[in-house]
Amino acid sequence: MSTPDSRHLYLRLLGYVKPHWRMFALSIVGLVLTAATEPLLPALFKPLLDEGFVGKNEAFMRWVPVLLLALFLVRGVTSFVSTYCMAWVGSRLVMDLRAAMFGKLMTLPTRYFDQNPSGQLIAHLAFNVTQVTQSATSAVTTLVRDSLTVAGLLGYLLWLNWKLTAVVFGMAPLTLWVVRVASKRLRGLSRKAQQNIGELTQVVDEAVDGHRVVKLYGGETYEQGRFLHAANQARLFEMKRVAANAIYEPFVQFLAAVALAIIVYIAADQASEDATTVGGFVAFFMAMLLLFAPLKRLTAVNDQMQRGLAASETIFALLDQDAERDTGTRTPERIEGQLRFRDVTLTYPGKDVPALDRISLDIAPGETVALVGASGSGKTTLANLVPRFYDPDSGQIELDDLDTRDIALQTLRSHIALVSQDVVLFNDTLAHNIAYGSKRDASPDEIRAACEAAHAWDFIQAMPDKLDTPIGENGMRLSGGQRQRIAIARAILKNAPILILDEATSALDNESERHVQAALDTLIANRTTLVIAHRLSTIERAHRIVVLEGGRIVETGTHAELLARQGRYAQLHALQFSA
Ligand code: ADP
Ligand code: MG
Repeated sequence: MSTPDSRHLYLRLLGYVKPHWRMFALSIVGLVLTAATEPLLPALFKPLLDEGFVGKNEAFMRWVPVLLLALFLVRGVTSFVSTYCMAWVGSRLVMDLRAAMFGKLMTLPTRYFDQNPSGQLIAHLAFNVTQVTQSATSAVTTLVRDSLTVAGLLGYLLWLNWKLTAVVFGMAPLTLWVVRVASKRLRGLSRKAQQNIGELTQVVDEAVDGHRVVKLYGGETYEQGRFLHAANQARLFEMKRVAANAIYEPFVQFLAAVALAIIVYIAADQASEDATTVGGFVAFFMAMLLLFAPLKRLTAVNDQMQRGLAASETIFALLDQDAERDTGTRTPERIEGQLRFRDVTLTYPGKDVPALDRISLDIAPGETVALVGASGSGKTTLANLVPRFYDPDSGQIELDDLDTRDIALQTLRSHIALVSQDVVLFNDTLAHNIAYGSKRDASPDEIRAACEAAHAWDFIQAMPDKLDTPIGENGMRLSGGQRQRIAIARAILKNAPILILDEATSALDNESERHVQAALDTLIANRTTLVIAHRLSTIERAHRIVVLEGGRIVETGTHAELLARQGRYAQLHALQFSA
């Protein structure tokens, strides 16, 4: 049942069991003892019949009930220990794998998240992991206990009557072959079933997230259809899996039945020749019947294990993703804020035209540079390169004459504050959203100052619990402008020398924008700033304006210079004021 591939997966899973080997070993001991006591029951019946009923040995008869109770008492304890310890190891396995996966998620590059739907990732962490434990616990339990039980019973049978038992061994190779063929198909089906679950969560995720759009544009039927399709796919694959299993299991059992039939046939022969006693025959028959249940479980364990292995494949695929490249060793505590783009080119995967085409730009410490251009001209992409959300295909970005790739990622990012158009808020209180991450232990005064500067203090004071008000998933309970001001407060609190504002005021009304603009003006004053804005009025005060078009810089200069040039900027400016 082990292709080299699945053996590799087992070994890797076993690696996660290793730290918990004591509990694991304890449960194995429990399993072994449970299995070892199994043949004792038929073994007890042989002397009971031969000595007690046939031989009329009364002293022995008195002992049998005591032995019987003792036997089941021991089995009760060993069975509890094995079940409990195995479940303990399994639960740790789930937790460890989840922690490893989440830890991996934290290190993955933005590109990965661009390409992998969040619903799939959620499914991996929530469901697929538990499938693995099922394989790690139930399957191991069955494998150890039942295979030992089978071995024990077989040993007993062999001792009782080796001829009969030889027949059983004769069937083994055929059974193994069936198991091997079936395991391949079962695993393939499990893998597909898992992808279907991922699609299912994805549809639900999107429909819940976008329920307003769904309602307003009458997308209910469409979404329902999409969901039904995904649900049906999941059902179909589950049925295929069940069918494959349903064929395979009786087949293996039939092989076992053939063996049993032969055994009964020969035993009956021997009994008529007086080669076996009554007790011997009853014990043999009992051991045979006891063999049936563990044998059945052993044949079914394969399906369970293949499901677990298929799940572990997707888990390990995630764990094997390359983390963000972080080879930088420089950790400058303070930086001046000199920012330089040198011949930077970037093409997104699957695109023919570069999003940025040989961009060179030199920004002095404390300078404010505004990026202007039509939507899709590459402004956000350029801004995303500074904190290395993406790395350019060629060219480099330097901070204080250091290549950003030579600076440790964490250090680099600690020097950058970014407010973007799509504000990200967490399902937490206002205070924790503003004092987020490394600023988690900012003092109330600092938080308040940041809120005041972002013109967020007034509306925060009006909230039921002020700064301690929970704001719901992604700040659902706030208005667009309020959310943006929270994001600005977060950036102000960070107080980093490099500031990137990517349409940071786009959701504000004119009144709040005027206030926030004043706040931003003071914020911008002593740091290097890249500002992207639709409203040209917010850009006019920049030291320099860079006009992008199709990923290239087409014009640079001050507001006045560019207007005088009568070029692209002048056009954009005219468009805005004529509108
Ligand atoms: P802007 O901010 O100026 O509106 P962007 O930098 O967001 O423009 O986008 C520039 C180009 O790159 C656009 O053509 C856009 O479709 C493409 N693009 C942006 N982000 C991605 C991404 N994550 N994957 C693929 N293409 C992208
Ligand atoms: Mg943009």
